[in-house]
Formats: sequence, C-alpha cells, structure tokens
Amino acid sequence: MARTRQQNVTAAQWTANGAALGAPDLTEPGSYPFGENVFNVAVQKERLPKEVFRQLQATLDRGEALDPSLADAVAKEMREWAMEHGATHYTHWFQPLTNSTAEKHDSFYEPVGDGTAIAGFSGKELIQGEPDASSFPTGGVRATFEARGYTAWDPTSPAFIIENPNGALLCIPTAFASWTGEALDHKIPLLRSMDALSKSAIHALTLLGHDAANRVFTTVGPEQEYFFIDEQYYFERPDLYTTGRTLFGAKPPKGHELDDHYFGSIPERILACMLETEAELARVGVPTKTRHNEVAPNQYELAPIFENSNVGSDHQQLTMQIMQNVARRYGLVCLLHEKPYAGVNGSGKHNNWSMGTDSGLNLLEPGATPHENISFLFFCAAVIAAVNRHQALLRASVAGIGQDHRLGANEAPPAIISIFLGAELNKVFETIERGEGDPATPGSFLGLGTPVLPPLPMHGGDRNRTSPFAFTGNKFEFRALGSSQSLALPNTVLNTIVAEAIEELAAKLEAAVADGKDTSEAVVDIVRETYSANKQVCFDGDNYDEAWHVEAEKRGLANLRTTPDALPWLVEEQTVTTFARYKVLSERELESRFEVMVEQYTTRLNIEAETAVSIARTMLLPAAVRHLGDLKAGGNDALVAETQELVGEFHDAILALEKANEGYPAQEGLELAKWMRDTVVPAMDAARDVADRLERIVADDLWPLPKYSEMLFIK
Ligand code: ADP
Ligand code: MG
Repeated sequence: MARTRQQNVTAAQWTANGAALGAPDLTEPGSYPFGENVFNVAVQKERLPKEVFRQLQATLDRGEALDPSLADAVAKEMREWAMEHGATHYTHWFQPLTNSTAEKHDSFYEPVGDGTAIAGFSGKELIQGEPDASSFPTGGVRATFEARGYTAWDPTSPAFIIENPNGALLCIPTAFASWTGEALDHKIPLLRSMDALSKSAIHALTLLGHDAANRVFTTVGPEQEYFFIDEQYYFERPDLYTTGRTLFGAKPPKGHELDDHYFGSIPERILACMLETEAELARVGVPTKTRHNEVAPNQYELAPIFENSNVGSDHQQLTMQIMQNVARRYGLVCLLHEKPYAGVNGSGKHNNWSMGTDSGLNLLEPGATPHENISFLFFCAAVIAAVNRHQALLRASVAGIGQDHRLGANEAPPAIISIFLGAELNKVFETIERGEGDPATPGSFLGLGTPVLPPLPMHGGDRNRTSPFAFTGNKFEFRALGSSQSLALPNTVLNTIVAEAIEELAAKLEAAVADGKDTSEAVVDIVRETYSANKQVCFDGDNYDEAWHVEAEKRGLANLRTTPDALPWLVEEQTVTTFARYKVLSERELESRFEVMVEQYTTRLNIEAETAVSIARTMLLPAAVRHLGDLKAGGNDALVAETQELVGEFHDAILALEKANEGYPAQEGLELAKWMRDTVVPAMDAARDVADRLERIVADDLWPLPKYSEMLFIK
C-alpha cells in the first residue's frame, strides 16, 4: 500500500509532543529523578513517627506480620505525601490472573455538609479494598462463593505515584483474594513462595555454618524484549490491535540476515522514547540499567537491576505499562506480544534468578574460599534437583498462546527444559561425581589450575544462548518466559520447587552431621549423589539441534510443545503435593490457575481466528478480486489465470477457516483447547499461506495492509 506518512520528524519534535503531554524535561542537567514518586524507605523515615517507622521496617525486613493499628498513621502520611505530589485519587493496584494489572480509582475527597469537600484516607482504606471480584477470572474459585473479593495492602512493595497531565494517582500495591481467603492473584502465591524458600534456605545455611542471616530473599532481574512500530501502521492492522500479532504478512525481502540490527546504533526517535521511558521508570523507582537493539529489526531490550522477587515482579508490570504509555507520545506503539511477526525473531523475557541473604550473601555466587564453595555447591545442586524433578511444571509456568510460536521454533529455547552449567561448573560437578575432588581442600579438585575456585571465571565468555535454564556466573537465567508475561507465576514455581529441594538436601545433611560426619564431606557426598541422580537435565550443547531432541527423549526429559500439552502439569499430583506442603497454592488454587490459563488460550485463539476471517473476507479477498478485475481488463491471459487460481484457493481457505471456527464440538476446557490447536490453528495457517502469496502479486496500491518491510524497517 502506498502510504503518506509524517516524514523527517526529529526527536526534538517528538519530545515536544511528549512535553505537551506532560512529559518531564530530561535535558535539565542533574535532573535524574530516581524514586521521586515513591513512598520509599527514605520518605517513610522522614515522615512517619519513629515507632511506626521501626515496626514497618521490621515487617519489611523480616516478613513479620503488620500491626493493623499502625495503618492509620501510615495512611495519613501517605495521603499527605501523595497530595503534595498532586494526587487526588488512590488505587489498590493488583494483579488478577491475567498477565496485566488492575486498578479502581477512589478519590481522597469526600463532600461534607456545608457543600465543600475534605480529603481523607483511613488506615482501613489503606489496608483493605473491595473491588468486585466477579469481573476477574478466578477459574471457578469465586463461583461457589460470594462475588466479593478483597485487596490487601502489601507493605513490602512501595506505593508510588503515576502522573498524568491532568492529575496524579497514588498506587498502592495490593494482594487480591477471595472472601474465603483463596488467592485470586499472582502476588499472594509469589509472597508465599518467597517465605517458603527463605525458611528452607535459612535452615540449610544454619547447618552449613552461616548464622548471620535472618532471611533469604529470592531475586529477579528480567530482560524485557519488545518491538516498536510506527503507530500509523499499527492502526492500519486490525490483527495487531486486536490480537497483538500480525495474522497475515509475507516475508520481507530483507530480514535479519544481515545481522545489522543487533547492538546497532539506536535511531533518534527510538532513543528519545527509551530515554523518556527510563526517566518515567526511574521516578517510580524502577532501576533500569541496560538498553540495546535486539536481533530482529525494530526489536529492542530493556533490563532493570535485579530486586527481590516481589518488588521486581511489581516493577516489571509497571515497566510494561509505562513502556506502552510513553511510546504513544513518540508516535510509536510498543508491542509486547511474543511473536508479532511470523518468520521474524519473537520476544521473550530472560528471568535472572538467585537467592540472597539479608546479610548480603548471594547463595549462587561461587566463593573465594573452599568453605563458601561448599555452600554454593549445595544450593546449586538443589536447583539442579528441583529443575529436573519439576521440569514439566516449569514449562507449564511459561505456557501461553503467544509462546506456542516461539518455544521450540529455533529462536527461543526449546519446549524441553534443561540446564546449562557451563564448562567450568560442569567440570566441577563431574569431578565430584567421579569422587576425585574435595572442594574443602585447597589445591585438590577446585584447583582446576588455581588453588580455589576463582571468584569470577564463570561470568565471562562461557555462554549458551540456546539453553532455557542457564547458570550465568552468580545466578540462573530462566530464558523461556514470554515477553508479555507476568514474572509472578514462573518465579513462584521456581521458589517453591527450590525450597523443596533445599529442604530435602538439608535433611540429608542434618542426618549425616548427626551421624558424626564432617559437614564439608557430607555436603560433597550430597552434591555427588544429587548431581548423579539429576544430571540427565544438564545439557551444554545446542538446544536447537534436532539431535538434542532425540537425545532428550532418550533421557526421559519432557518435550511439551504446545500450551495444551504443558498446562496439565499445573495440577499434576506431584505439583499439588509440593505446593500444598509449602502452602503456596492449594489444590483448588492450582486448579483455578489451570482453568484460567486454558480459558485464556481458547478465548484468544478464537479471537485470532475471527479476526483472521474478518480481515481475509473484508480486506484481502476484495483487494485480490479488484486486482483480478484489473488484470482481466488488461487482457493478459497468463496473469489472469495465475491470479484467478490463487483467489479461488484463498476463498476455499477462508471457507475452511470459517467452518473450523463454527465447528466447535461440545467439548470444553482442555479438550476444547486441544481441538482448537489441532483444527483452528492449521486452518489459520493455511489461509495465511495463500494470503501471503497473494500479497506478493496484488498491486501494491490495492493491498490494504501495511507490509512487513514497512512495519519493521521504518523507525
Ligand atoms: P547477562 O548475563 O544476561 O548478559 P547481566 O549480567 O547484565 O546480563 O544481567 C542481566 C540481568 O540479571 C539484570 O537484570 C541483572 O540485574 C540481573 N541480575 C544480576 N545479578 C542478579 C541476581 N543475583 N539475582 C537476580 N538477577 C540478577
Ligand atoms: Mg541474558
């Protein structure tokens, strides 16, 4: 389609647009506004009465229950602070079982008898809200109870202010539960899983002789990938704005063959947008760190500095929201879908994960002394055991319709979960397994050339981009998350399964030490045994290679290719037992998540199919028929015949897709999901295949959709 578009718009003009929309001036020197809009520890310390502040900190640091009588004092200061920042409303900001956030705004002001209004905000209003739960997916939990749900203040994630040119909003991170106490959100189980892991890890640390720590926090640093697209093209693509991805579109003549985009210089408008996004994130306290171009054209990445899992997960939701809002000020749309463009690299979200103590120790950091290495190897072995036992559950935790275009498609990790340890760590475990090394004795096995395991060797060069779960120096990187996903579920799963493995290994250690064994020797035995029993999940080779898929099957690893294959693992007996033991999710809560995720799959697939039919029927087929008419008028028989055949084929494919769309059998739930996967998806693919061939021959001025080359290369 020949298009006119706003040409040569400079970043300065886009920034002027942004300023008109209330964006901050970033050019003022020294104006880095980190945390300006956060009710953070510094603000709390300054404003709260000493005793209130002390007690609140105790809750934050040690996970102690909050005394509700503090709430009034906190609410008063929070409101005054928020109003000084221009806030007129507040919201309990929460995360229902979709991958997004929800908010209902309430005004601070209430009218009084004399016709004026006064501002108020009580402790009760801070602690508890009552949104109508009936409009959120609950997977059946709600149905048998009242429709009421309530939100509960999470004091461990700081409140923040979202600004708008016409006002400001105080956002209070909250948990969302049913009236009967079941978690209706992603935050509650995440918090429970962090507690579970902390308990297990503290127990293990005590046995290992570290008694400085009171609490262990899991940490997360997500690397967010995304695309930008000029908003004009976005609004000309009903598939993009309805489903988040292009349902049609022929491969462009130029893709990323030239590898000229990755880490390339960032175009001016894009950079201007990124800078403003990062400034906005800084103001709400999200510590962004890295930005760069990604592999595909017009694809980018944004990575924050890691935080504890709960705050990191909240901040990730906020990041996705702010990225999308700011993009619009620059005439861009930020696409978070896992696969906006077929045949072009999709977007994921690497989930860097570790465990750290409140005394500042990273449990996955190889130490400088043999003693530290003993504890490192212990926790590392626990992760290996956990991932091996619950590989299918981990796969299920990242399942979703967008992911089915990525996982296993040789651009993202495969649908098989395995662990990359890296050459050095691999050697360490192999040596221990052979019984040759003694990490407690400097100069023996940890030698590997040096007297002890040096502190940094694993950070560098030794990388494997194809592994779904890789050790990267002082953390594991779970690389299979989708770009639009909330971090909460995968991290809940990780924390819980590792909590279980740590507890099991700790029990063995405790027994061995009680038997009079030396701690280091006992750990080496446990590490040997654990590695031996679980090494099938360790794989350092190319995960994209077909040979690995064959080998993985031989090893008995799960290969769950699609969402309907993976989701049942959320409710497998093994999952239910583990999650019940750590009180992270009850069977009922697990079932509700399973049901919601199945329903999201079928609903979204249905929307895609309906959108595909509508575009095919009302936009693409008419264009092809007009083109055919022109050819007929031109009188070239060969051209007419070629196009006529394709038009007929397209019509047939549309009819078949319509039939698939209508023909849902009486099945529901997972059966329906499988049926749609096997029937609707192929019918959509078939229609697309013909449409993309038509796109290549229909006159450009007749083709109604922007083409891949326009969407991907105009920045
Ligand atoms: P990479 O190893 O992928 O090149 P970086 O070292 O820059 O990248 O780290 C990537 C992400 O990992 C960042 O978000 C960073 O904050 C996070 N990260 C670093 N250390 C930890 C940790 N201990 N726990 C969780 N995330 C971490
Ligand atoms: Mg990475």
